[in-house]
Amino acid sequence: MIKYSIKDNNICNFCESKNNYKVLGKRLNKSHGFKPQNKTGICTTIIKCKNCGMITANPLPIPESIQDHYGQPPENYWKKNYFSSEDKFFELEIEWYKRLRSNISKPKALDIGTGIGKAMIAMEKANFEVFGIEPSIPFYKMAIEKTGIKPDRLKCTSIEVADFPENTFDFISFGVVLEHLYDPSYCLKRALKWLKPNGLIHVEVPNADYLLNKIMNFQYRLRGLDYVTNLSPMHEPFHLYEFTLDSFRQFCNKNNLEIEDHAFFACSTGLTGLLDDALRRIMKKTDQGMQLTVWLKKIKE
Ligand SMILES: [Zn+2]
Repeated sequence: MIKYSIKDNNICNFCESKNNYKVLGKRLNKSHGFKPQNKTGICTTIIKCKNCGMITANPLPIPESIQDHYGQPPENYWKKNYFSSEDKFFELEIEWYKRLRSNISKPKALDIGTGIGKAMIAMEKANFEVFGIEPSIPFYKMAIEKTGIKPDRLKCTSIEVADFPENTFDFISFGVVLEHLYDPSYCLKRALKWLKPNGLIHVEVPNADYLLNKIMNFQYRLRGLDYVTNLSPMHEPFHLYEFTLDSFRQFCNKNNLEIEDHAFFACSTGLTGLLDDALRRIMKKTDQGMQLTVWLKKIKE
């Protein structure tokens, strides 16, 4: 059993509103399924900021060691198809970056939360000079030993303790990382120092307005249950935050950044046929897809 310390989370991490949230419901330390009321476990409360819409847990359960969550074999954490070496991984993001910064021939890039190294390899192939950090020891080992990342390019460390000279990188990627961090705004501010003026931070996060979560929560309410399906603070994939575009807008206004581009992505619903088509169409039209991608530009001082 993982041991947690409990931290009050009454101040919004992005917009800094104090005690200004709505309680959404309870979250167990395991998958809820259809009958969460029959499951045992420990619970935290999921809240939504009334000012910017960001979703998080209050209190926030923090494991004694980060390895309690991520120090497991990569095969346990990711689905099998993640390990296939399909060439399209991170291709969309690389093309997107090149569209936004066509004048930079060999961008210097930093990949935060490298995992087993797939995005680093894709960027190297696309002529980026790429560096990475990864806090999980098993993921780091796999990146070096199996994916073939050079040890001088990848550090086994977390963003909270990593250090790079100021104004170093043209591009910093937080691909599916920010939702795992206990203090995402602190980590973004650290990365901002390492970014060159006019450089870009790429952020890919879960959307707080994701339609399928709202449908699941609605069916719990109809049955008189106060559980919600948002986040997974104490079980895989260990998500601690969901974000809105407005939460990024408010963060940027305070931190010498601006949103240069963004998009919502519907992603797979896990369903098939007409229902899948209909839900994906609604998500696309209403910005209620699973994923939000944001490109943040460092304003020139
Ligand atoms: Zn907020």
